[in-house]
Amino acid sequence: MTHSSDSQPRITVWNEYRHEHENPKVSAVYPQGIHRAIADGLSAHGFRQVQTATLDEPEHGLTQGVLDATDVLIWWGHKAHAEVSDEVAARVVARVLGGMGLIVLHSGHFSKVFKQLMGTGCDLKWREANDKERLWVVQPAHPIAQGVGEYIELSAEEMYGEHFDIPAPDELIFLSWFSGGEVFRSGCTFMRGSGKIFYFRPGHETYPTYFHDGIRQVIANAARWAVPTASAPRSFGNRQPLETLPETSQ
Ligand code: ZN
Repeated sequence: MTHSSDSQPRITVWNEYRHEHENPKVSAVYPQGIHRAIADGLSAHGFRQVQTATLDEPEHGLTQGVLDATDVLIWWGHKAHAEVSDEVAARVVARVLGGMGLIVLHSGHFSKVFKQLMGTGCDLKWREANDKERLWVVQPAHPIAQGVGEYIELSAEEMYGEHFDIPAPDELIFLSWFSGGEVFRSGCTFMRGSGKIFYFRPGHETYPTYFHDGIRQVIANAARWAVPTASAPRSFGNRQPLETLPETSQ
């Protein structure tokens, strides 16, 4: 196992992997699972240390050892958020605060992990009606927006609409427009502890969104951006002064 100082970040793509088994419409789009399509997109962008993990593996495939050896975790979940154990969710949150990058996709907005890190309800409006979506870049200089042009257009997607109940993001990278008239903050960054978080909206399970070139480019950009940096160590509690302090009378 190489170190995070290596130029090749270690990526773990986590997927609930239930729709693919239960809905033929989804397995037709993602025969090897959403996680495989995302992992293949990262490989196509030059990432060479990409592994996957799914809900029904022991400890959901996210043992302490796996998380300790992960620089960036990508999360897709929808119908089984409640089946993620509190213990594993807490373990992921602790790793993010300790510096692991986290990319939360689409319906992951309601995952235990994202809700705990945001501290808000994370609810939103939605509609499954083949809306066209245009994701406008609103932060052109940001590394996550590189190489996608002024906007990404998806011919059919689920609609997510404001209000999105999140804290004000540190940075807003994409703003989505939907043909039904709604808008949505669809690419948002957050810093929590030593960790970097990117929420990215697209990717409803019945659409081939994770095969789209622009979407794959954004996820690859985000994976590079979210790699832990050599940040200042976090320490808390009572401590001795760094200089000699004058005597004070109590
Ligand atoms: Zn969806």
